[in-house]
Amino acid sequence: MSLIVQKYGGTSVGSLARIRHVADKVIAAKEAGHDVVVVVSAMSGDTDRLVDLAYGIAVEPCGREYAMLVSTGEQVSMSLLAMCLVEQGHQAVSMTGWQAGIFTDELSRKARITDVDNSNVNKQLANGNIVIVAGFQGIDEQGNITTLGRGGSDTTAVALAASLEADECQIYTDVDGVYTADPRVVPEARRLPQITFEEMLEMAGVGAKVLQKRAVEVAGKLKAPLRVLSSFEEGPGTLITFEESPMEKPVVSGIAFNRNEAKLTVVGVPDKPGIASKILAPIGLANIDVDMIIQNVSADGGTDFTFTVGREEYQQAHDILKAVAKEIGAKGVRGNQKIAKISLVGVGMRTNSGVAQKMFTILGAENINIQLVSTSEIKVTVVIDEKYMELGVRALHAGFELGVEPKEEFDPIKPNVASKNAASTATDEKLI
Ligand code: ASP
Ligand code: MG
Repeated sequence: MSLIVQKYGGTSVGSLARIRHVADKVIAAKEAGHDVVVVVSAMSGDTDRLVDLAYGIAVEPCGREYAMLVSTGEQVSMSLLAMCLVEQGHQAVSMTGWQAGIFTDELSRKARITDVDNSNVNKQLANGNIVIVAGFQGIDEQGNITTLGRGGSDTTAVALAASLEADECQIYTDVDGVYTADPRVVPEARRLPQITFEEMLEMAGVGAKVLQKRAVEVAGKLKAPLRVLSSFEEGPGTLITFEESPMEKPVVSGIAFNRNEAKLTVVGVPDKPGIASKILAPIGLANIDVDMIIQNVSADGGTDFTFTVGREEYQQAHDILKAVAKEIGAKGVRGNQKIAKISLVGVGMRTNSGVAQKMFTILGAENINIQLVSTSEIKVTVVIDEKYMELGVRALHAGFELGVEPKEEFDPIKPNVASKNAASTATDEKLI
């Protein structure tokens, strides 16, 4: 029997009418002969409302109670969907994260899934039920409810799909797939019929919001076959593949961008071993994620040490750095919140040099100054003034001809069952 895990995001279950529509899609999958497990997000706006309530009570709400509160959003949508299915004469049960065996570590706001005990879900499936699972939540060893970080329902779906060895994990959202760039910024952007995990990971990391980055990491690690598609219109969506297509290896597959980051520079740092760690250790201790790190020796022998952090953590990072700068004898701290990050992503970069050069030329022709650059094997990222983000993205999209359909279309690759099974035998491995 084939098994499909479907995940519906907040807008897809945003009203009773939308929930009825989702029920129709779930029934269609069931009637096509699949076992169906559905993971739902909270109705759109609900999680935001709950988070606001929490921050209305406390500046830093207690983690355990925060998770207790914000996890309730998903329990509303899951039970409404199950009710709707029952109403239409189908067998369905909803389950909270803990009922579905989603075990996590103890980070209440951003917990990681450590294990999935799928026995309850399997029992319900065997009884002929459609199983609806609350996304975004789990339970820690102490029995406390935890949440998986914003957008975490994607991760619930992927982890369940991997554990149940589902034939496909379908992520239904309000866009019909992964695009060469966000179509709201680039109208010529094209839906990609498929993209590799590595590319998706880089895209999600830089700000393509279709999938939570952690969900992609888990899918890649556990080889869960994943597809992103729209709950609003029919279509094949985008398949996230494990293998590169032998036919098409675009040098650049897509462009991701965001303005969620800020830049900090410690100026005139003494050029001595151990200094970088002195700067970054207290930042890490404060649980602030650092992204690009750039260090450069200046003419007078000192170095400038620059890195980016999430914009909401900018002030905290700035305060920490001011103290550190004094301690290590640096000249001072400079910061800029008005930056944007643009990345070109493509597996074809491995075998093609010159992408960065072409990127700089295109941005230069638009008079856009590049503040920072970093590269990986399949990605080039620049930081620019946020004012020019849209202009830069559009110029790059046009310059790399991403709106142009590649000549050879290929069949969407079927989920790779062999490699999926190989991966799922590695049972001693933690999920994330
Ligand atoms: N409801 C949660 C959020 O809004 C989780 C999710 O939608 O994936 O972040
Ligand atoms: Mg989402």
